[in-house]
Amino acid sequence: MKASLAREFNRLLLLSGIAVAASVALSSLWPLIIALIAYIYWSTTQLFQLYQWLVREDHIEPPDSSGLWGELYTRLEHLFRKEQRARGDLQGIISRAQESVNALADGVILIDQNGYLEYFNQAAAGFLGFRRYKDEGQPLTNLIRHPSFTAYLNSGVFKEPIDLVSPKDDNLELQVQVTEFGEGDKLILIRDVTRLHRLEQMRKDFVANVSHELKTPLTVLKGYLETLLDVTPEEQTRLHRALSQMNQQSLRMEALVHDLLLLSRLESTQADDVQQAVLVHGMLNRMREDAISISADKHHQIELDVPKEARVIGHPAELDSAFSNLITNAVKYTPANGVIKIRWWQDEKGAHLSVADNGLGIDPRHIPRLTERFYRPDNSRVTQTGGTGLGLAIVKHVLLRHNGSLEIQSALGKGSTFTCHFPPERLVSKPTAVAG
Ligand code: ADP
Repeated sequence: MKASLAREFNRLLLLSGIAVAASVALSSLWPLIIALIAYIYWSTTQLFQLYQWLVREDHIEPPDSSGLWGELYTRLEHLFRKEQRARGDLQGIISRAQESVNALADGVILIDQNGYLEYFNQAAAGFLGFRRYKDEGQPLTNLIRHPSFTAYLNSGVFKEPIDLVSPKDDNLELQVQVTEFGEGDKLILIRDVTRLHRLEQMRKDFVANVSHELKTPLTVLKGYLETLLDVTPEEQTRLHRALSQMNQQSLRMEALVHDLLLLSRLESTQADDVQQAVLVHGMLNRMREDAISISADKHHQIELDVPKEARVIGHPAELDSAFSNLITNAVKYTPANGVIKIRWWQDEKGAHLSVADNGLGIDPRHIPRLTERFYRPDNSRVTQTGGTGLGLAIVKHVLLRHNGSLEIQSALGKGSTFTCHFPPERLVSKPTAVAG
């Protein structure tokens, strides 16, 4: 570049020298003016050529030129080639990325911060019936018209995925998970979980059917055992003991079948069948009396701190099951003379019921799994208490059906507090239909 610059400078110097010499020789400014006009004309022509070459799309074959202009063309052409190569490489990467995303079995959707559809792969089109070009740029909630999906997308909380039935095919169960990136853009992953759903449904049906089928033989067995117990004199100690143990176990089996059927119903039916304002004071007071009789010679001190007018909108029988499970557990897992406190209160977050005891407590590492069916931190407790292992699973399901949640705080050897939280929409402002 330096050499071309020097050459251009020399050329200009030579032209000016000749023009000045001619001007002096002829004692006229005309040679100088003509030389200047010629140089300006030549430079303008070169500039025009450059402009024309630059506006061409391909930038190949630069115009013939020498000196500084020639050097400029060569350099620019080199730059263009480099940029074209980089663009080609980038396009290749983008195409490969698109091809691989298109080949995924899971659906992938990209939406911008306003919720408009930017991109979807083939699987997403298959799951949701999207049409290329036609649906791009549309609001996603217009294309997936599910109230639960709209609520999920608007909630801004995407820790957990949600399940949807495909708008295109009622038999297709989809799991949708949103991930945020950039400035409010969203990547939505969609998985076909139809098979999992079917398996889950089969499991639920199987448990419900088995439990149901067990009911009748169990009733017969229990009936005969009770009769046999009645007619067997207590002097026949061994036989009497065996019969009474069989009777106890049949009662336990009956409780198990009852809980399994209840859990199946909670899982498989819609939540909003019987919803009314439930008077919880009466319900909890009755449970307290039951607890005192179960507690019997353990002489628990059972305190009730529930406002008389306390009400919650819900399903009375389900709430009854949940609350009584918590209170029965407190009695079961609190040694003699322990204190059990049942408290109900209301605040801006909703209504809350806590059942606190100063009993055996639970090691905190077991707490996250406690609401799983048949999960027991300590199996030795089962034989002593005769529980079904389904109580807390029932509580959790009942609360989920009431849009609530269960909070468990516990320390081994110190006691436990189980708190049911109900959201504000479950509160009753004015007394209406009442149950309890
Ligand atoms: P079950 O009581 O029939 O075993 P649950 O689902 O009601 O089944 O409870 C699961 C486990 O949680 C119990 O086995 C027990 O170990 C523990 N648990 C529940 N409530 C309490 C409590 N109040 N204090 C201590 N442990 C408890």
